[in-house]
Amino acid sequence: MIEFVFLGTSASAPSVERGLSAAMVMHEDQRFLVDCGEGTQRQILKSGLGFKRLDTVLLTHGHLDHILGLGGLVSTFARWEARSYLCIYAGAWALERVRDLLNVVLRGGEVQLKIELKELQPGVFWRRHGLTITAFPVSHRGPGCFGFLFEEESRRPFLVEAAERLGLPAGPERKLLVQGKAVTLADGRTIQPDHVLGPLIPGMKLAWVGDAGTIEGLHGYVAAADALVIEATYLDVEADMALRFGHLTASQAATLAYEAGVKSLYLTHISRRYSPSQVLAEAQPIFANTVVVRDLDWFRLTRAGAPETECPAGEKAPREELQA
Ligand SMILES: [Zn+2]
Ligand SMILES: [Zn+2]
Repeated sequence: MIEFVFLGTSASAPSVERGLSAAMVMHEDQRFLVDCGEGTQRQILKSGLGFKRLDTVLLTHGHLDHILGLGGLVSTFARWEARSYLCIYAGAWALERVRDLLNVVLRGGEVQLKIELKELQPGVFWRRHGLTITAFPVSHRGPGCFGFLFEEESRRPFLVEAAERLGLPAGPERKLLVQGKAVTLADGRTIQPDHVLGPLIPGMKLAWVGDAGTIEGLHGYVAAADALVIEATYLDVEADMALRFGHLTASQAATLAYEAGVKSLYLTHISRRYSPSQVLAEAQPIFANTVVVRDLDWFRLTRAGAPETECPAGEKAPREELQA
């Protein structure tokens, strides 16, 4: 299961209803803060997520509405939360800006917090505990802008009833079979993985695009994703401004979702120029399964057919259930 929580959904400047860009993506015990606009730390607290296990930040690009919150977050981590480690992944130009920002915040002072800045290149940069993250190039204003593809490993479920029928003891034999290895039991019988593993269940796929000036070149990366998160700063009526400032219109974002065959679309980076219903009204005729997200909206993607849940992909998760 992959969960994602929007912490800030406003374009460029905050509004009364919306904070600046930030979101939390979660897979099992791993958490990723994607972008960190001004005010993010308070949104993290309001969401109920808290700072626990938050040590990895992914930045789509270096514009101030996506990074300024790092100053406050790092200051809190270094001075009040006694945190020891934070790793920030971003393109070279964004990292340069983050370095400048952190120099102002920390002023070369001695802090316990070790901050690692890791420069992104297109390709896989994270492969741990059943999750792979790939960075892919996005064209926006300035160099080194990236989107992220979060992919859960596909897996075959262990069929407990079949194992019981075969008299397979609980213990290391089961683990070996899950790993795809045959085991020979004490009575001489050999059990093959196919005897106790169900059909392959594909892992969830979440594609995340920050600010973008065009959808050209993105189709291959986001194709068939269970969810696509992408900006929709403008409407078609102001397509000339979208082009000038390197942003997308709602209809361009929806066109990408349609052409790339994604299952659900989440529009963010919403401008104060329009109401969310105007944004939805432009996108939905092109791609029906569209949500214009709000701050603190919480979604989860679960494997289709997975026995542990009946929640369909993209269904909004009940917040109470997930805040534990
Ligand atoms: Zn932005
Ligand atoms: Zn930007």
